[in-house]
Amino acid sequence: MPTEWQDQAEVVVIGAGIHGMSTAYNLAARGCPNVVVVEKGSIGSGATGRSGGIVRQQYTNAPMIELAMRSRQIFETLQHEIGGDPGFVQNGYIFLATEREARGLEYVVATQQRLGIKSDLVPFSVVREIFPDINLEGIALAAFERDSGYAEPQSTLMAYVDKARELGVKIHQDTRVVNLLTSNGRMTGVETTRGKIRCEHVVAAAGPWNSQICAMARISLPFRFIRLQEAVVRPVDGYSKFLPTLHCEKRVLYVRPETGGLVLGGGTPKAEEQWDHPDRFRETADPEFVVEFAQALSATMNRFANADFVRGWAGIGGMTPDNHPVIGALPGASRLWLAADSSHGFKLGPVMGRLMAELILLGRTETMDIQPFSYSRFAEGETFKSKYTNFPWF
Ligand SMILES: Cc1cc2nc3c(=O)[nH]c(=O)nc-3n(C[C@H](O)[C@H](O)[C@H](O)COP(=O)(O)OP(=O)(O)OC[C@H]3O[C@@H](n4cnc5c(N)ncnc54)[C@H](O)[C@@H]3O)c2cc1C
Repeated sequence: MPTEWQDQAEVVVIGAGIHGMSTAYNLAARGCPNVVVVEKGSIGSGATGRSGGIVRQQYTNAPMIELAMRSRQIFETLQHEIGGDPGFVQNGYIFLATEREARGLEYVVATQQRLGIKSDLVPFSVVREIFPDINLEGIALAAFERDSGYAEPQSTLMAYVDKARELGVKIHQDTRVVNLLTSNGRMTGVETTRGKIRCEHVVAAAGPWNSQICAMARISLPFRFIRLQEAVVRPVDGYSKFLPTLHCEKRVLYVRPETGGLVLGGGTPKAEEQWDHPDRFRETADPEFVVEFAQALSATMNRFANADFVRGWAGIGGMTPDNHPVIGALPGASRLWLAADSSHGFKLGPVMGRLMAELILLGRTETMDIQPFSYSRFAEGETFKSKYTNFPWF
């Protein structure tokens, strides 16, 4: 049943992905009346519905590590907070670095420890104890984040949707925002394919389409659109859902357990192609990607030698100019708030919504300092740089 149209709101959130729904929920939970979410497709039809759901804290810049940590902390109690089950499993995350990445990994672990994350550099014997069939050839250093995990993206999203609706949030699907309405540089509403909605604040949580929303306010946020692929396989002997997620730099591979004894993964950069538009991309996994993934997987662990391919898919992501999130206010567009995660941010959904609600309702953030994620960093030359070569968004 379509939601009854409403032409007035306090806040309009553009996009019903993880960031939009977390924002809507957090606003409503803090007493903000009249929150309306406008979604051009259906709930979860963007990147969120195709996400791998890995909740790691492995980043090579301190502000990113803190952002990921704050979100992981929310995941730990999310079911208690919102009722629905996000399927969060705290299985841990093992990062295997080559010599080239080793110094970066030492920095990461030291920074994580300073923030209180349960992370250590571990001897190879610890990795072998967990994965007896692992091939560590070419690996220089291993780190183990014991409190990282993964969640089920659709379940997490729907848990936010259900709670937000219960708190009075309205969600208009099949409704595209085509313009932003302003007066004297201040947001006054949005124009959609179903009509106008007048409002006090607009949140751009449109994933890869955020650059289009910014362009409506004449703000340049050039995105690269990257197609990311995932595959699910079934090892012959099954796979415990508590085995740690494994990231192997040498084989540019990541894998995590999936329910039902399955394994989900991806990560070969060759398969991450740039596309010219977020609405035009191949949604199925390429056969070459599946073959490369299977080869990398069986070269990493023997148990995958005869694994069955179950399914594969692709999603589109929007990468910001320095591959890291842009969060908060935008210049020259008062009361337009941006929640752009740069395509590695399912894990950041819980904290993003909290930060957005704080910004809108308090005019500042309490959870953490978000200045490093400001749009102004591009003009000020304070951009992020990854310490890893294969993964510029780490
Ligand atoms: C294959 C793949 C694997 C991934 N794996 C991981 C992972 O393991 N861990 C992790 O942390 N992240 C991962 N990510 C990234 C993560 O999924 C995304 O960063 C995150 O889901 C983005 O959420 P979002 O809410 O910003 O955007 P989206 O989920 O894309 O939602 C944005 C919504 O806005 C809507 N919209 C756009 N324009 C308009 C408009 N004009 N009017 C109305 N609505 C509009 C869209 O239809 C869409 O539903 C992965 C991504 C992909 C594609």
